[in-house]
Amino acid sequence: MGVSFQVSKFVILSPSMENTQKSIPINLYRISSPLAVEVIENRRLTAESRGRKNDVRHLVFKFNGSYPCIPGQSAGILPPGIDSRTKRPNSPRLYSVASPSTGDHGDGKTFSLCVTRHFWENPQTGEKDLPGAASNYLCDLRVGDKVKVTGPTGKHFLLPGDFGVRDFIFVATGTGIAPFRGMLIDLFQQGYERNVWLILGVPYKDCLLYDDEFRAFAVKYPKFTYLTAISREENNPFSSEVQTRQNKMYVQVRMYEYREKLLKILSGSNSMMYLCGLKGMEEGIFPVLNALGKGAGIGDSFAEKLKADQRLRVEVY
Ligand code: NAP
Repeated sequence: MGVSFQVSKFVILSPSMENTQKSIPINLYRISSPLAVEVIENRRLTAESRGRKNDVRHLVFKFNGSYPCIPGQSAGILPPGIDSRTKRPNSPRLYSVASPSTGDHGDGKTFSLCVTRHFWENPQTGEKDLPGAASNYLCDLRVGDKVKVTGPTGKHFLLPGDFGVRDFIFVATGTGIAPFRGMLIDLFQQGYERNVWLILGVPYKDCLLYDDEFRAFAVKYPKFTYLTAISREENNPFSSEVQTRQNKMYVQVRMYEYREKLLKILSGSNSMMYLCGLKGMEEGIFPVLNALGKGAGIGDSFAEKLKADQRLRVEVY
């Protein structure tokens, strides 16, 4: 952090989006030859009082050798043990990298993940609150524990090589924040000075992830806009324009609230929008984008147009 470049001296990761993607190494480590990494930090990001539900961790892993992963890529985690459903060894689970390109320590020797403790329901037996194998394994890790990783994987959710001439709108639900934390640190470390927005949706205020970091960015970088949507504590004041379950405040409602400023940015042909988090979040966001586009005379399907122009990227699961 702290290194600042003039706009004309941007460290462009690569001259074009295509070249960026071609030169990114992937799948250096596989199930048959995983990399052993060591836990050096496991920090809870949400209030302890929320208990095992809403337990989200920031985990930092140290490695020897090389594990080049950049925001927008994922690391495969190999949980030990047997999958109770398949009766075979657990397969790798992908988690989005939450650290900047050089890692949280800036030395290229660590990467970080943002992991929520997951519970599931077995539809066959009706059993509830079954602990997810990988997420509970990760959340319970202690400093010094060793973990086997595969990857890194993924090339489609990266920042473009020409990021220095673009404006960005990042929208996250829950742990979908992971790639955006890394991207924001990367952008600001490289002297990025254009408009960048982050809209983050979480259930409770004390479950906001990396809130202190984003608030600090908002103070330091005047063109960074940080907005939150606290679904279970705030109501939707635009319920006739944007319908949400139980009238909750969701990220798409915040987008609608700030529609004029948002549209101004998205109307620029160099702007890009990234969505990450819960599967289905795009179903609430696309209609808002389309309504904004229609109102501005851009057409009925602004979301499709952004996608066709490669200016809208979605990573949900
Ligand atoms: P969470 O704590 O449940 O928070 C998600 C927030 O989004 C809650 O406030 C939730 O509100 C709200 N929400 C629910 N449905 C929504 C909708 N249709 N539109 C907008 N907002 C909605 O989140 P989480 O447990 O961390 O889960 C995050 C998801 O992101 C996981 O499924 C994870 O697999 C995925 N993820 C994806 C990536 C990736 O790279 N693609 C990376 C990390 C995480 P209510 O619960 O109050 O309804």
